[in-house]
Amino acid sequence: MALVVQKFGGTSVGDVERIQNVARRVVETKRAGHDVVVCVSAMSGETNALVSLAEQVSGGRPPHAREYDVLLSVGEQKTIALLAMAIQELGEPARSFTGAQMGMRTNSEHNRARIEAVNADVLHENLKGGSVCVIAGFQGVSDSGDITTLGRGGSDTSAVAVACALEADVCEIYTDVDGVYTADPRVVKDAQKLARIAFEEMLELASLGAKVLQIRSVKFAMRYGLPLHVRSSFSADEGTWVMPEEEVMEQLVVSGVTCNKNEAKIRLQSVPDQPGIAARVFTPLGDAGIVVDMIIQNYASDGSTDMTFTVPRADYSRALEIAKAAGDQLSSRSVDGDDSIAKVSIVGLGMKDHAGVATRMFEVLARKEINIQMISTSEIKISVVIDEAHSDVAVQALHAEFIDDLSD
Ligand code: ASP
Ligand code: MG
Repeated sequence: MALVVQKFGGTSVGDVERIQNVARRVVETKRAGHDVVVCVSAMSGETNALVSLAEQVSGGRPPHAREYDVLLSVGEQKTIALLAMAIQELGEPARSFTGAQMGMRTNSEHNRARIEAVNADVLHENLKGGSVCVIAGFQGVSDSGDITTLGRGGSDTSAVAVACALEADVCEIYTDVDGVYTADPRVVKDAQKLARIAFEEMLELASLGAKVLQIRSVKFAMRYGLPLHVRSSFSADEGTWVMPEEEVMEQLVVSGVTCNKNEAKIRLQSVPDQPGIAARVFTPLGDAGIVVDMIIQNYASDGSTDMTFTVPRADYSRALEIAKAAGDQLSSRSVDGDDSIAKVSIVGLGMKDHAGVATRMFEVLARKEINIQMISTSEIKISVVIDEAHSDVAVQALHAEFIDDLSD
């Protein structure tokens, strides 16, 4: 007998039939002799609809954070009730729990609360009593008793946090794709499903734009060594196991090729090569809540240097304004930017032990006559910034170069 946490995303519970389908899967697991905790998202489209209502009432200003959380948490509350009923219809005892009821304690940062502790007593008790526990993802409660939410996609993190607190044997993430792929199958038609991937690789893939799992959920699982199984709620096939590095038997040199089109770049030309300059450029950006990703500073000549960096595309015009103000103060020759870029990356644990991976990547892009604008690397990742117009060709060519047929 195992303790299994199952998480079902919005499309998996998108209508009544799908909720009944989830109920059948849960009951199957329960009748196989396991204890089951099910964590659910809001039905697909539900959270967006709530967001839009809040925007209409708030007249274009940011909605009041506390009330916004009261509103957004409604979506998940609807799903837990319906799923618990559907499970009961199949003859198994089930009980629904909101974040507050199940002991999901967070800090009080509304709309992006961090989990502080999970008090698993209520769940343990109910499992012992033979019930399936159906819990609301994405929501928690602060010390002052207020409802909080964890940020979009937060149900993944709820599920993993609960699985860690319960010391579950596995956390299954059911979604509308059947696993983690070597590339976006809409771009690369022979993209393949990975049987296993290490936490570190998944973290890189998630932060590079692969949307299967919220990054924070992967960090949680990694910290606790909890294996995640990402799989489809519409088929019984095995999906992708996300697990500790030591347990991933065959470490691929490159296990994924990703593309992120949500960034823009900004360049300050010819700023003084002196201590404190970078701080004067990036402090006001940080103060404005803008998260800078890649930063490149050139080797200086003639006492001046160029500085280029990327920011989320949604923050581009704000960031450009701030950079222009900083540039004026530092008598930069000019400050310009481009928001039609793509960051294309290759990720793989095996890169650590293989030389020449970067060279191969650059050669592939050269053969396609794609210009590289920026480069950054980590131990298991190489990213390049290129013109957005070439991103599909780049991803396809890199996939063809680095990903062997995994089926043989
Ligand atoms: N319902 C929330 C959202 O749409 C949380 C989640 O689904 O993970 O972001
Ligand atoms: Mg999700």
